[in-house]
Amino acid sequence: MEVIKISPRGYCYGVVDAINLAKKAALDPYVPKPVHILGAIVHNRHAVASLEQYGIISLDGPDREALLDQVTGGTVIFTAHGVSPAVKRKAKEKGLYCIDATCPDVTRTHALVRELAALGYTILYIGKRGHPEPEGVIGEAPESVHLIETEADVDELQVDAAKIAVTTQTTLSKWDTERVINYILERFPHAEVYNDLCLATQERQEAAVEQGRHADLVLVVGDKRSNNSNRLVQVVQEIAGRPARLIDSVADIDLEWLRGVRRVAVTAGSSTPSEITREVVRYLESLDLDVLAPEK
Ligand code: SF4
Repeated sequence: MEVIKISPRGYCYGVVDAINLAKKAALDPYVPKPVHILGAIVHNRHAVASLEQYGIISLDGPDREALLDQVTGGTVIFTAHGVSPAVKRKAKEKGLYCIDATCPDVTRTHALVRELAALGYTILYIGKRGHPEPEGVIGEAPESVHLIETEADVDELQVDAAKIAVTTQTTLSKWDTERVINYILERFPHAEVYNDLCLATQERQEAAVEQGRHADLVLVVGDKRSNNSNRLVQVVQEIAGRPARLIDSVADIDLEWLRGVRRVAVTAGSSTPSEITREVVRYLESLDLDVLAPEK
């Protein structure tokens, strides 16, 4: 079967750096043990499992501050998604050795929110409820930030501020975000916009749309909890107008999806290990088109 290997795809620099930091900590005799990661290092079970081999304990749950209650000593690593100042403070108070693997792109949003809040701005943060990245960013200035997920949240806002700023989670859909920003500007034309979608996310989405257009089906390799992987499926379906499916690994591929398909494209979220995607590509390339001819 012909396979379009969409590029760029897969691991971004923020994820690679976070994983390397965690492995280095596990191997360093001067870093207090055990080493814990506060939340999944990235939203991918294969990446989490690979760190277990280094003796690293991944703690998982929606509230990072509460997760710290499970840690009694050693080291704690903050993931690429970032954490709120309250989480950092609590880890220090517990006497834990802290390693911050927050992606620089997320750190930039934290700094921006701190600055704008100090200048008296009301901040509308476009992000996904329940995701760790908004939890960390909003924690910088909870009294000044409103989480906006959809246009309905904008309608419900009780805000009458002279100074309004808009910023965003890094891994949203570029097109959805533009739509919500425009909606906000209709109601608050004086709002200042700081679009903080990261470059890695934008490049992967644009490539998936442009290159996915030439395929009969697009497979996105990623974990169902990965926001950026889910957004890749969404933009291929909505912007490129092609069918797309999220798969965790080669084991999820159903041959019925491929019946009558001549060309399949493969991409991967920025939290998906490259080997998992390579296995998917190898499998698809080995398939015999005659076997998968449309049923008569
Ligand atoms: S997706 Fe973007 S913000 Fe998230 S870790 Fe990768 S580069 Fe950083």
